[in-house]
Amino acid sequence: MRRNEKRTQMGTRSVWSGEKEYLVHGATQVPVVHSVSFGYNDIDEWFEVATGKREGHIYGRNTNPTVQAFEDKVKDLEGAKAATSFSTGMAAISNSLATILVPGDRIVSIKDTYGGTNKIFSEFLPRQNIDVTLCETGNHEALEAEVKKGCDILYLETPTNPTVKITDLKRMVKVAHEAGALVFVDNTFATPILQNPLEYGADLVIHSATKFLGGHADALGGVVCSNDEELVEKIYHYREINGASLDPMAAYLLLRGMKTLQLRIKQQCETAGKIARFLQNHDKVDAVYYPGLETHPNHKIAKEQMSDFGGMLSFAVKGELDGVREFLPRLKYANKAANLGAVETTVGPARTTSHIENTPEERAALGIPEGLVRYSAGIEDVDDLIADLEQALSYVKSDE
Ligand SMILES: *Cc1c(COP(=O)(O)O)cnc(C)c1O
Repeated sequence: MRRNEKRTQMGTRSVWSGEKEYLVHGATQVPVVHSVSFGYNDIDEWFEVATGKREGHIYGRNTNPTVQAFEDKVKDLEGAKAATSFSTGMAAISNSLATILVPGDRIVSIKDTYGGTNKIFSEFLPRQNIDVTLCETGNHEALEAEVKKGCDILYLETPTNPTVKITDLKRMVKVAHEAGALVFVDNTFATPILQNPLEYGADLVIHSATKFLGGHADALGGVVCSNDEELVEKIYHYREINGASLDPMAAYLLLRGMKTLQLRIKQQCETAGKIARFLQNHDKVDAVYYPGLETHPNHKIAKEQMSDFGGMLSFAVKGELDGVREFLPRLKYANKAANLGAVETTVGPARTTSHIENTPEERAALGIPEGLVRYSAGIEDVDDLIADLEQALSYVKSDE
């Protein structure tokens, strides 16, 4: 586990970071600035702002004060020098890749990235003559060998969706930088509370703010941050022209949600750990995937690079899809939905959520059983959640 004082700081940052500079009229909360454009009587001042010589805003597709407050909070939480935001997590991912990659480039990644990211790798990048090599997630030797052949971006996600596999960030950043590659890390599952990839030398950290950062499943958003200000500036430039900007109202909701980020994550980690251990000993459950379990293949790495193991787990109920059909609708305290990271417990089969884009054969190749259930622990009382799981599992048929 990492040092404890860091976590105390994170709670304070969750509440205060990014707020002060944007307050007006003595208000204690950041205003939602819905203005599309920002006007200037002085044409010289206007010109200076427009050309970046002076602080200010010109047009909502470029910058907006509420959106900036959100970016500043994330930047502070990740300990980054710069951040820029997007309309969704996928916009953050696709815009960042498109900023860097040109035909002839090569990207190395893992097979278990988020379903949408995986589609970019399998469908969109190859048709632009960008070479994509996907390695077995958790096979560090294979990743190292591919990176050493030369690549422009090493793209990682840890823990992964939905089987919460772990990649050693420190180890992979080292080989990638020796090979002259940039390292992008999707930190959505860990959140800045549990893992700061920049500390391990990553070049860009990406979040789907839609999930844990917002935490209330009521706003979409994405954000990237880095210690390389030039890199963020380039990505911002791509986004301001291509237009996947974050809406100010969504920025406000995300900003408000983030005030309780540390509280929520602490509770969700504790709950997920207790539920994983409960399910591990349950006779209606074939397998449990949670990095906090000593049986998890990369438990040690997770313990090293994360300050706790996160609010996400998955498990395979007996009887594959039939088992899921019996079990899932009977859960009372869980939304059966495609999102995750919310205050409400949220569950879904991997085949209809994270990996709906894949064929059954592709899912099998990724080690995702058709009966796999993804479980995003909410902030309800854990005893109620366990009792709920117990009664719903009682409907699953035992073997024979
Ligand atoms: C949801 C998710 C995304 C995509 O985010 P959206 O906001 O839905 O576009 C990317 N990465 C991970 C790990 C996710 O869970």
